[in-house]
Amino acid sequence: MTHAVLSIGSNLGDRLAHLQSVVDGLDGCVRAVSPVYETDAWGGVEQGPFLNAVVIAEHPDRSPADWLRLGQEFEDAAGRVREIHWGPRTLDVDIVICRDGSEQIRSDDPWLTLPHPYAHLRAFVLIPWLAAEPDARLWVAGAEQPVPALLAELDARERAGVRPTDLVLSR
Ligand code: ATP
Ligand code: CA
Ligand code: CA
Repeated sequence: MTHAVLSIGSNLGDRLAHLQSVVDGLDGCVRAVSPVYETDAWGGVEQGPFLNAVVIAEHPDRSPADWLRLGQEFEDAAGRVREIHWGPRTLDVDIVICRDGSEQIRSDDPWLTLPHPYAHLRAFVLIPWLAAEPDARLWVAGAEQPVPALLAELDARERAGVRPTDLVLSR
């Protein structure tokens, strides 16, 4: 059984519908869905705010590569066009971590880096993840660390840029 934590985001078009398309596409594999947050764009490109959420999914035999390819299928179906790095997009699906049983899979392959190399620096990943999985832990700098401790290390402005909404993803 593999367990994937997916960070999903959208800042173009019908943002909530794009996030919902992932939950719908994962179908019976969804184990938890976070609330939806509105977040300031990350990475310095001037653009509109994102909606972000985290989805936790499980599958009996899907590999980490299968989770990535599935995420890319959802991005393509949402009409994602790759233009500027860290620029606006209809849908982004990142694999935050993948576990096989209790073991967190690690990979430094640029095509699929696990855990996601920026996850520990992004409040828009950590805050929704913690809401969906209160005992979330992330492998950083040679050790598995509790997500609340990683969040506490972030700048207060980074955390304040992740705002709760009344929007809901339905399972
Ligand atoms: P970032 O990865 O910093 O959030 P991004 O999401 O804007 O940036 P993309 O253009 O969506 O970047 O993806 C670039 C490439 O990153 C993808 O083609 C994919 O192969 C690779 N990649 C590596 N590790 C991961 C991962 N953990 N999850 C998703 N994509 C990954
Ligand atoms: Ca991303
Ligand atoms: Ca991505």
